[in-house]
Amino acid sequence: MTTLKPVYLQKVKQHNMADILQKIWEHESISRVELVELTGLTSGTITNLTQELLQTGLIRESETSSGSVGRKRVMLKLRTDRYMIIGLDIGRTSFEVVLADLAGRMIKSVEGNTVGIRNPEQVLDLVAPHLESLKTDATDKKSPVIGLGVSIPGPMDKKTGKLLSPPNFPGWEGYPIQSALERRFGLNVFIEDDARTSALAERWYGLGRKAQDLLFVTMGMGIGGGVVAKGELVVGSNGLYGQVGHITLLPGGEICACGNEGCWETVGSIPGILRRWSGGNTIDGFFQAVREGDPAAVQCMQETLYYLECALTTLFNTYDPDVIVLGGKLYPYLTMHLSEIRSRVKARMYAFVRDRLHIESATFGASQNAVGAVALVFGALLNEPLQTLAGTKT
Ligand SMILES: [Zn+2]
Repeated sequence: MTTLKPVYLQKVKQHNMADILQKIWEHESISRVELVELTGLTSGTITNLTQELLQTGLIRESETSSGSVGRKRVMLKLRTDRYMIIGLDIGRTSFEVVLADLAGRMIKSVEGNTVGIRNPEQVLDLVAPHLESLKTDATDKKSPVIGLGVSIPGPMDKKTGKLLSPPNFPGWEGYPIQSALERRFGLNVFIEDDARTSALAERWYGLGRKAQDLLFVTMGMGIGGGVVAKGELVVGSNGLYGQVGHITLLPGGEICACGNEGCWETVGSIPGILRRWSGGNTIDGFFQAVREGDPAAVQCMQETLYYLECALTTLFNTYDPDVIVLGGKLYPYLTMHLSEIRSRVKARMYAFVRDRLHIESATFGASQNAVGAVALVFGALLNEPLQTLAGTKT
């Protein structure tokens, strides 16, 4: 008989504990008996692991009466206020830092302006006092911060922890953001680009509670995508999965920063729209001209919606998600066209899926990235509860 190695047993335990915690989150309130049925684990294992989760403070017990005789049942729920998460959205011209509980509810939020600052260290100097103050708030509430989630405008090399070349984000290329944040703030740091954090905001706290397969499209200075499939964020072998802004919409069109030609980003992002319009240099000015009926602006707007329609149709056919969620700095200007966009995309799809296509607006508006940064840490906690808590500074 072979003896199982302790490392293997530890892994099995971690896996089972994550499974239990996720079931408790999914069901909001669940009994130990139901956990046995859903996980296939023995009642002894469920008793031991839920006991350990109770000791960590991640879950709590609550009594409900059930059945006609009014017998009390002990239910298990996620305890959302025992620990806190800090989310940081670093944008191209601003930042937002938030303190949130495990349910993604914002306790406090601070925003700041970084216009014209191209030195990452100077941006972090601006963020630091606010972030330290939120850490103190969490300590005052006796709710330790389990991690710092960070949303950034472009991709990061996961192996080196350095930023790659985010579009329109000068000064940040090659910056070792992971180690810089860990050193400065002494927290567990989790980083993803804004399209992916936005997708995770929906996955854990928004539309994803009902949709396991979703695609988030963020439209602003660039166009990015975040893909959640069967509840998991998908990044691909080179981190390029869901780079929806780089599908070619105009063969022979403008060469994109990525090297491809005629990318959606070259025609559909804020800079892309302004280049095609050539009637001014602000997006506010462009939409003002559209409202005033300026023929060139109206023509450019029609093309913009047509590109969006083509891109979303391609994305539905490629990814087959339950829902595509739209957000980003450009999207508030397009919200009034949402029902038109829906019907135009549906008209181009296979008839049998038309009634099942969902295109929705992002749930958290201007704070989508910051809530997503929080969701990034929450997802890590549900996937690896003990490892994530082990890095928590109490
Ligand atoms: Zn491109």
